[in-house]
Amino acid sequence: MSSLSVVGPDHRKAALDYDVAIVGYGPVGATLANLLVNRGVRVLVLEREAEIYRLPRAVHFDGECMRVFQAAGVARALEPEVIPIFGMRFVSPQGQLLIDWQRPLEPGPQGWYASYRFHQPRLEEILRARLAERPEARVLLRHEVFALQEADDHVQVRYEDMRNGRLHQARVAYVVGCDGARSLVRRLIGAELDDLQSHERWLVIDALLKRPRPDLGDDSIQYCDPARPATYVRGVGVRRRWELMLLPHEEVAEQTRPDRIWQLLERWITPEDADLERHAVYTFHSVVARGWRRNRLLIAGDAAHQTPPFLGQGMCAGIRDAANLAWKLADVVQGRASEALLDTYESERAPHVREFIQTAVRLGSVIQTMDPEVARRRDLAMAADPEQFVVPQPTLGPGAHQGDGISGTLAPQPLLVDGERSDDGLGYSPVLWLAPALAAAGQAWAGGRIACRVAADDHARAWMENAGVQAVLVRPDRYVAQAVAGAAELPALERWLPAIA
Ligand SMILES: Cc1cc2nc3c(=O)[nH]c(=O)nc-3n(C[C@H](O)[C@H](O)[C@H](O)COP(=O)(O)OP(=O)(O)OC[C@H]3O[C@@H](n4cnc5c(N)ncnc54)[C@H](O)[C@@H]3O)c2cc1C
Repeated sequence: MSSLSVVGPDHRKAALDYDVAIVGYGPVGATLANLLVNRGVRVLVLEREAEIYRLPRAVHFDGECMRVFQAAGVARALEPEVIPIFGMRFVSPQGQLLIDWQRPLEPGPQGWYASYRFHQPRLEEILRARLAERPEARVLLRHEVFALQEADDHVQVRYEDMRNGRLHQARVAYVVGCDGARSLVRRLIGAELDDLQSHERWLVIDALLKRPRPDLGDDSIQYCDPARPATYVRGVGVRRRWELMLLPHEEVAEQTRPDRIWQLLERWITPEDADLERHAVYTFHSVVARGWRRNRLLIAGDAAHQTPPFLGQGMCAGIRDAANLAWKLADVVQGRASEALLDTYESERAPHVREFIQTAVRLGSVIQTMDPEVARRRDLAMAADPEQFVVPQPTLGPGAHQGDGISGTLAPQPLLVDGERSDDGLGYSPVLWLAPALAAAGQAWAGGRIACRVAADDHARAWMENAGVQAVLVRPDRYVAQAVAGAAELPALERWLPAIA
């Protein structure tokens, strides 16, 4: 993508109130806001609700997300609030182990564990607390956006202070709708949804243990029971989650009465073991929007895509959106790149998230089978091929990367010789990885324009050797822009620098 180096107008010169308005302060809006202010962007966040959403939602995120939270400056606050996860098991109604999905017991290539359990409201509190320290951000709770008027060089955001009905407006360069599944911004963009066809109702229950129940286990368990598919998840602290599929004829009001909930849970716990904390019935959709940007309007997170939760990847995908978009928006509003850079957001992210959703839908169709004969054949097939479901590791779609070799893939985060993680000290900025033999030449070429790291440890060296490269330019979102084989090719990296450095 050659237009990255085309410098656009500096929007800061226009009379704008903020560079970017974010509609919605869920986990995706909060992550995006933190990353934007880390790049010096002035942000207005507008959120309709007074409080963080309290019904049960995400419980899992992956090592890549933890790395984004590290870039956002919240990993240290988050670490004591999460626990690593080491496995998920799929079992048949007869108790037969169908799939045993074990995760590594050590931190992986992202510099973090492969998977974590967390409590979504706590994550959101931590992201909000971090943003509150930043003068570049203004957050307005109980403020609902109701209209966006686009002009050539700005967007007029119109919003209501819901405490008193007063109407306000702000002029911004870009608006990002992180406004969830029923996104207003998506509707104003006019983006339609590609439906990947999975819409099942599940009852989700969180319980707080009153006494130890180590027999419930630390691994997640998918009960592939055609009579009632169910999932058990060990939460952080004393929180435990059960997700139970509702049968087509079952009424929500009937199934959510406390006595009925206890009846549904009786094979695992009783009121002597735990208190019910909260519950909700969700219809899990699987959709991807077509059109994540129109001119100055963009969407991210659930506004742009939704997935059934079987891989625990809905929020993770939104966090990846935020990491992909924030540096691009910063470079465009600060005049380092042309608007064309923003087109790479959907082209890179949409195929990536689609692969996760398709895998989750496939997994869901296996787990949600209610026909005993289909389930019997499934159990045989799963036992014969326990490797058939793997967590996808897609390359980005075409965009702001070279498009060959390891470009578009996620760079590892090795530990440095002093034991620090290599992203520490970088924040949300790019880095040039150099093989030891190219250290001097690479640093001389970079000339202080971009941070350099020398691949001194085995993992980083192996990563570069396997790819047959000696210098790797890594973007702020930690995806590889371009890798080159030797000193003579270093100037080829020059074209990325105006945009990503
Ligand atoms: C039962 C369940 C389990 C899940 N498990 C996982 C999991 O384990 N791992 C995982 O990664 N994901 C999981 N998810 C998905 C995850 O919870 C969502 O993907 C995530 O919350 C989406 O975040 P978001 O910021 O995009 O949207 P939301 O969290 O929905 O936030 C949108 C915000 O926008 C605000 N808003 C909307 N319109 C306006 C407006 N006009 N003006 C102002 N504000 C507005 C809303 O009030 C809301 O606060 C799960 C979901 C469910 C339901």
